[in-house]
Amino acid sequence: MPELPEVESLTHFLRERAVGRTVLGVDVVAIQALKTFDPPVTALGGLTITGVARHGKFLDLDCDGLHLVIHLARAGWLRWRDDLSGAKPVRPGKGPLAVRVRLAPDEEGLAPGFELTEAGTQKRLAVYVTKNPDDVPGIAALGPDPLDESFTVDALKRIVGGNRIQIKGLLRDQKIIAGIGNAYSDEVLHAARMSPFKIAATLTDAQIADLHEAIITTLAEAVERAHGLAAKDLKAEKKSGLRVHNRTGQPCDVCGDTIREVSFADSSLQYCPTCQTGGKPLADRRLSRLLK
Ligand SMILES: [Zn+2]
Repeated sequence: MPELPEVESLTHFLRERAVGRTVLGVDVVAIQALKTFDPPVTALGGLTITGVARHGKFLDLDCDGLHLVIHLARAGWLRWRDDLSGAKPVRPGKGPLAVRVRLAPDEEGLAPGFELTEAGTQKRLAVYVTKNPDDVPGIAALGPDPLDESFTVDALKRIVGGNRIQIKGLLRDQKIIAGIGNAYSDEVLHAARMSPFKIAATLTDAQIADLHEAIITTLAEAVERAHGLAAKDLKAEKKSGLRVHNRTGQPCDVCGDTIREVSFADSSLQYCPTCQTGGKPLADRRLSRLLK
């Protein structure tokens, strides 16, 4: 669920709260979340957080050169805690808590920290302890970041050119463009007035320029809205800022048509027929395949 704008905001949030603080310890409650064993997670104890960065949807805490890299996946979240000194030790197996990072107490005696939680039964949240974030496979494979200056119209043209996949899939593919997931790809395509099923390689130069504009504005606006919000308020903010995603059956803000839903890959997507597909609802390809 957290995509580029939310992870960007969490990065700022942690930069303000956590940089300069010493790590007391990292408790891994959900063992399967820890994807590395060397260096061990205990090596982070005693180190100082010197920086926080984002790579696509990955959070990267630099602790004196050793990195704690976090991927929140679909149902993960980060919860800041002002004081963990009274928190009970956690036993593996129950509840959404996956990882707890305890920081050294400040002058007031409060020992803050943060917790990574994951809802649901599919556990995909991942943490890595590494000397080099590029050693994390998901980071090494990332495409360009759309908020980076190098992500120009020409750069997008090179990405799109000759690519025979549907534009919805292209936008969501972290190896092609970093940071956009199911929600913001719906939003970008609505802003660009483009069918999610359009084949990337068929876009004209004008459409590529429109798509580029839509990517930049949609993400920048979402980052702007999320900026300065506490970690716990980000989810609600993301939801309220969306124009088509997860709004099936509601009227489109732009034209008043009813927002529709169609299955796509492992989930579903939402779009506005009038704004994006010439008024025609998209056929559910999975369903029609079954009926043949
Ligand atoms: Zn519309």
